[in-house]
Amino acid sequence: MMKIAVLSGKGGAGKTYVAVNLAAAAGECTYIDCDVEEPNGRLFWKPEDVQCVTVGTLLPAFDPGKCSGCRECVRVCRFHALMFVKEKPMVFSDVCHSCGLCRMICPEQAITETEKPIGVLETGHHGSVTVVTGILNPGETSGIPVIRQALKQTGEVTILDCPPGSACSVMESIMDADYCVFVAEPTAFGFHNFRMVYELAGLLKKKCGVVINKQTEAYAPLEQFCMEKQLPVLARIPYDPLLAGRLAGNEIVVECVPKQRELFTDILEQIGGVL
Ligand code: SF4
Ligand code: SF4
Repeated sequence: MMKIAVLSGKGGAGKTYVAVNLAAAAGECTYIDCDVEEPNGRLFWKPEDVQCVTVGTLLPAFDPGKCSGCRECVRVCRFHALMFVKEKPMVFSDVCHSCGLCRMICPEQAITETEKPIGVLETGHHGSVTVVTGILNPGETSGIPVIRQALKQTGEVTILDCPPGSACSVMESIMDADYCVFVAEPTAFGFHNFRMVYELAGLLKKKCGVVINKQTEAYAPLEQFCMEKQLPVLARIPYDPLLAGRLAGNEIVVECVPKQRELFTDILEQIGGVL
């Protein structure tokens, strides 16, 4: 089993381009889109035979007939997701982490659990690639339950298209990854965001490498940083308006540009060599 996570410190760096084309170069593999707030890998894959499963989260439900009003549930909730309103407990679903503690400690067994749908998991196919897409419903604040559900679909070789940034949803996505590929732009802003996500992966002691994307000229601080940290630069992809046009048209370039297939096959070989 090999899980490769593709990350970027910010949106627009080319994370989905790299993740989709790595998966396409790998051939038989599973691509999982963990960017559940904006899952656009499927625009490239256009998967067939798509199956949908609803993803829900468990929330406490209170039986007013049994509740004695002791407020023990409010006291133990470390996420401050419960409040006492008009002499009865009320849950703030956006803050509840579904830990179940309130239900376990209620002395009157007045709490049960109810499932609230928060998103969808789509699974389809593009040739020999299984395409899994996590989709968070609009207005929902935490995509982590959808990401967890999506991560259960891993195969022998899995490419994870992670959420952008360095929030806890990224941490969740890379938790079990064997290797992290950072996609960084060679600019001051790109370098700043890349360092944030690099530190996050460092906390989890992940093996990693960088793909520098849209390079017009070398950005010295980024090159220096990679050298100092002994972070392998897996590829330097020059800015190319023709490539940008193909990506804007949602083309999987590995399938139609031989040089891109060579590039992504080489990245996979470098990662395979390390793992
Ligand atoms: S712990 Fe149970 S009995 Fe006490 S306030 Fe909460 S729901 Fe009511
Ligand atoms: S399930 Fe956990 S997080 Fe949610 S209200 Fe109960 S104690 Fe708080």
